[in-house]
Amino acid sequence: ELKLANRVMALTPSTTLAITAKAKMLKEQGEDVIGLGAGEPDFNTPAHILDAAFRSMNEGHTKYTPSAGLPALKKAIIDKLQRDHGLTYKPNEIIVANGAKHALYTLFQVILNDGDEVIIPSPYWVSYPEQVKLAGGVPVYIEGSEENQFKITPDQLQNAITNKTRAIIINSPSNPTGVIYTKEELQGIGDICLRENILIISDEIYEKLIYGHHKHISIAQISPELKEQTIIINGVSKSHSMTGWRIGYAAGNKQIIEAMTNLASHSTSNPTTTAQFAAIAAYNGPQEPVEEMRQAFEDRLEIIFDQLVSIPGFTCVKPQGAFYLFPNVKEAAQQTGYPNVDEFVEALLVEAKVAVIPGSGFGTPDNIRLSYATSLEQLEEAVGRIHRFVNSKL
Ligand code: PLP
Repeated sequence: ELKLANRVMALTPSTTLAITAKAKMLKEQGEDVIGLGAGEPDFNTPAHILDAAFRSMNEGHTKYTPSAGLPALKKAIIDKLQRDHGLTYKPNEIIVANGAKHALYTLFQVILNDGDEVIIPSPYWVSYPEQVKLAGGVPVYIEGSEENQFKITPDQLQNAITNKTRAIIINSPSNPTGVIYTKEELQGIGDICLRENILIISDEIYEKLIYGHHKHISIAQISPELKEQTIIINGVSKSHSMTGWRIGYAAGNKQIIEAMTNLASHSTSNPTTTAQFAAIAAYNGPQEPVEEMRQAFEDRLEIIFDQLVSIPGFTCVKPQGAFYLFPNVKEAAQQTGYPNVDEFVEALLVEAKVAVIPGSGFGTPDNIRLSYATSLEQLEEAVGRIHRFVNSKL
């Protein structure tokens, strides 16, 4: 019998991948399935970024770089943080990683000892708990209530803190809910983190995808004290439609960054050189493509949101950012005869031919996640199918 390490045996299989695999299988069998599971923009990477990548290769930049990233990319990130947030960082406070996901992974590896607790507001991105567990940590969940737009309150945070609490993750705009914390809300959370000396991990990967009158603010820009207490996580995946290039970064305390760099030097050596050159162009070049993609997402959201909430038994907190809808469909599942939302999701795939992600994987089993990173035509067809499916079962 093959014996694997305990740490991987403890991993929870990804519900996202399970449903995506099943959707793929149905498609291969010739079924006309529409997938709304995607976690990536449906646009190609902007042309000037591709050009910069080709150019760097032709110029011979195909070798190792420093483990924490090219100095020119660090500078581009430092300039971006200054430009967008008024935050000043030094090069030794920045590490470039193989995606924001890998920046987070490395971060947990260097800050957690066995049994240390990390507070994770729920619903949460599926990888947070698994990454914490892989580092020997213990995820502690705080449930953001739907009435409060899934956001946690300072009181809830205070009650969750123990003498083992090491860090809290704030993901604003949020995957899966799309909600954004206001400055006042972040201040309330930040005050407690300062008082209790809890590290704030601010995952700002959806920062550029903001709709209506809403604004993104980084908790690090509220005060110098909060900047000291925060590690910012971000990257080019969602902002510049560069998910496959795998470039993300962490910015913050230099001892933490140095430890992450040591770990990277023995694990990845460096993020792919070509991708780093592409990311330099992404941050230093024209930002119009970012705004064009944002606008396209907002246009889709405005059209599809009303159609979605007109489905019987669907209610939805209106997203303020990112590219997901996270409706509560508990009533729809009950009224159409399914014991739970997971089985409703299964029926949506097999009968209505629409793949969505069950909320159970995000810690919120009454909801489903639909991505609108797909054409408006496909979106309207998919929501129409779900609507007809529900109506046919009532
Ligand atoms: N953080 C959140 C909340 C995400 O949804 C994702 C990607 O889905 C990431 C981080 C990781 O992004 P990257 O492609 O930079 O690893």
